[in-house]
Amino acid sequence: MQPICIKRRCKHLSSSGCTLGNSKPFGCDLYPLAYDPASREFYLDSECPLSGRYADQLSSPDSDASRHLNRMAMTIRGLERTDLDYLEANFAFDREYFSLTPVNRTPD
Ligand code: SF4
Repeated sequence: MQPICIKRRCKHLSSSGCTLGNSKPFGCDLYPLAYDPASREFYLDSECPLSGRYADQLSSPDSDASRHLNRMAMTIRGLERTDLDYLEANFAFDREYFSLTPVNRTPD
């Protein structure tokens, strides 16, 4: 499995960040979360520089992190019906490259 933006420079990365905005791929949109379709649990990459702030925000339902978690959960519910193999492959990648810790909050 090839790393996407850890060891190779993604062609969509500019000096001001990702040029794809809201159209970025699912795996990028999901970060710093990861999702295990087997356990149906979310995880957080503890090596992401924003992981501490993200985790703190999850205690507030109106925070950016909580909105992100809920939006990703909705996307994942659709993928669980249509493309479970993709979710499993995505999690295999995340588990290999990230330092995952469980998210202590369930989506709304
Ligand atoms: S977030 Fe954007 S720049 Fe980063 S790997 Fe994904 S597509 Fe590329």
